[in-house]
Amino acid sequence: AAGLTLGNGSNEVIDLIFHTFVSPGDEVIYAQYSFIVYALATQAHGADAVVVPAKAWGHDLEAMLAAVSDKTKLICIANPNNPTGTVLSAEALQAFVAKVPSRVLVVIDEAYNEYMDPALRADTASWIQAHPNLVVTRTFSKAYGLAGLRLGFAISTPELAGVLNRVREPFNANSLA
Ligand SMILES: *Cc1c(COP(=O)(O)O)cnc(C)c1O
Repeated sequence: AAGLTLGNGSNEVIDLIFHTFVSPGDEVIYAQYSFIVYALATQAHGADAVVVPAKAWGHDLEAMLAAVSDKTKLICIANPNNPTGTVLSAEALQAFVAKVPSRVLVVIDEAYNEYMDPALRADTASWIQAHPNLVVTRTFSKAYGLAGLRLGFAISTPELAGVLNRVREPFNANSLA
């Protein structure tokens, strides 16, 4: 079973994950040249950014794993990445998720998932049962061209969705979307 959390775009869902779990003094890991919202949300929640230098313009998963400390609360990964368009293989991504300590949340942001060759897509949602610290975010903004309508969502364990939905503004996703 999976849990869903709707948002005013996946941007809001990402921000909601930060709002729910990230406090001043926590560390958030993300890659250099990744989606700008990770930096903005980290700063807005008073956390410390641990920006891992890019490897060939993409995510250096080994370096990101090595950056995990006692203070790490969250790791954000955009796959495919925006703005550089790099892609991680399903195997590399799954091996990474398996190595992250279970007390650290991993957000895999799949805003551009639909643009990928279906054969290369990682079935990340199916990993959640084995890795309940994993949250996958998706959106109708890019492939469906509905950015102005504002609808995104998170896929997580039902327990995690239960927590996010308690913090979520009750009317954040509008009925038209
Ligand atoms: C566009 C984008 C989002 C947010 O899009 P929404 O319109 O808020 O759903 C999130 N992550 C990435 C990587 C994006 O490119």
